[in-house]
Amino acid sequence: MGLALVLLTMMLNPAAALAGPIGAVEIGDSDITVRFDDLVAGASAFLLAGPDRIALDIAGAQPGRALGGAGIVRAVRQGQQDAGTARVVLDLAEPAIVSNARFAADGRSLTFRLRPVSASEFERAARGPRTLLQPPAEFRAKPPEKRYSVTVPIGKPRPALPLPAIEGPGNNRLPLVVIDAGHGGHDPGAISPHSGKREKDITLALARAIRDDLIASGRVRVALTRADDRYLVLEERYGIARRLKADLFISIHADAAENQQASGASVYTLSEVASDREAARLAARENKANIINGVDLGAHSSDVSSILLDLTQRETMNVASDFARLLQREAANDVKFRSTAHRFASFVVLKAPDTPSILFETGFISNKDDAEFLASLAGQKKVARGVRDAVQIHFARQIAALGR
Ligand code: ZN
Repeated sequence: MGLALVLLTMMLNPAAALAGPIGAVEIGDSDITVRFDDLVAGASAFLLAGPDRIALDIAGAQPGRALGGAGIVRAVRQGQQDAGTARVVLDLAEPAIVSNARFAADGRSLTFRLRPVSASEFERAARGPRTLLQPPAEFRAKPPEKRYSVTVPIGKPRPALPLPAIEGPGNNRLPLVVIDAGHGGHDPGAISPHSGKREKDITLALARAIRDDLIASGRVRVALTRADDRYLVLEERYGIARRLKADLFISIHADAAENQQASGASVYTLSEVASDREAARLAARENKANIINGVDLGAHSSDVSSILLDLTQRETMNVASDFARLLQREAANDVKFRSTAHRFASFVVLKAPDTPSILFETGFISNKDDAEFLASLAGQKKVARGVRDAVQIHFARQIAALGR
C-alpha cells in the first residue's frame, strides 16, 4: 500500500518525488526546530487568527507525521499544500508570533522562537505579510516546479465589481434570480478523472442553460455572477445577489468523490451545523475556493470555517429550504438525485442574510455517467428545465402567500 502510494505520487508529479519529507518538528523550551530529510527550496511563515495558528510552508518538502504539542504549542499538523509544498501548522494554546527564524548553515533545519503576544497584537500580525526564509544558497534545493502559478494582488481591498447585466423581461416588478456558476478562472473546481472536464466549464454551461430557460419562461429576470471564465471570491458572488436585491440565489456546482461510483445531485442550504460529515467536508472544499497560495482572498477573517448566523437570517433560510425541496421535487424527473438530496452545511457562498440561497450540486463529475450527462447539451437542458419549473412554482407560491 505504502509503495503504491509513493509510485502514484511520482507519476503525478516527478518534481514532488525528489522532495524529502519533513523529518521532525522538535519543540524545545525556547526554540522550535523543523528538520528536513533533504534540502528544501525555502520556507515562509504566517499567522492565522481565531483559532490562533502558525503556518509554515516548506517549498520542496513533503509533509511528515502529525505530532502532539508541548507548552504553548497545542498540536503540530502537517499536510500537502500543493504538489511541491508541505505545510506545517502549529495550533497555539495562546497567541504568539514567530521570531528569530533562521535556517541552519547546512540548510537541513529551520529554527525559530515563539514570542507570546496579546490577542490584538496577534491579530495585527496575522494581517501582515508572510515571513520569507531561505536556506544558504549552496544548500538550497531548486524551487519545485509548478504546473501553473498564480499571481494575486494582496493587501489592497478589491474594488466592488461592476454589476452584471439583468436579462429578461424589462419589468422591474418581476422577481430576480441570480445564477452563480461555481469556480472559474484559475480555480477549475473538480476535474473529471475520465474526460478531464473541469467543473468550472460545466457550471458555466449549466448557468447559461438555466438562464436561457428562465428568460424564455418570461416570468423572472436573471443575472449571472459570471458569464465567462473568471475568478470571483465567494463574497463577491453573493455580494452581487445582494447588491442587485435578488429574490433567489442559485450556486451551481458539480461534486467530486474518491469513490467514482458516487453519483446523483443534491441541494444544499446554509446552516451553522452540517447535516452530516459528508456535507461538512463538501462545504470545507467549496469554501477553499477563496484560498489561493494559502492566502484567503475573502472579505473577512482568515477562518472561513466558522460562520455565525444572525437570527434575521432564519426567514431567509426557511425560504431557501422550501426552494431546495421544491427543486428536488421538480427536477427529479429529469435529473437523478441522491437519496438524501437536501443537506445543509456552512457554505460561505450561501451567506447572504437577505437573499434565499441554495447550492445545487448537479451531480458527481467524478462519476462517468454523471459527468457525461452534465457535459452534454441534452443533460444541461434537463437541469435547466428542472430549475425553471421549481423557480416558477416558488414565485407563484410567494405571490399567493402575499395575497392571503
Ligand atoms: Zn464546486
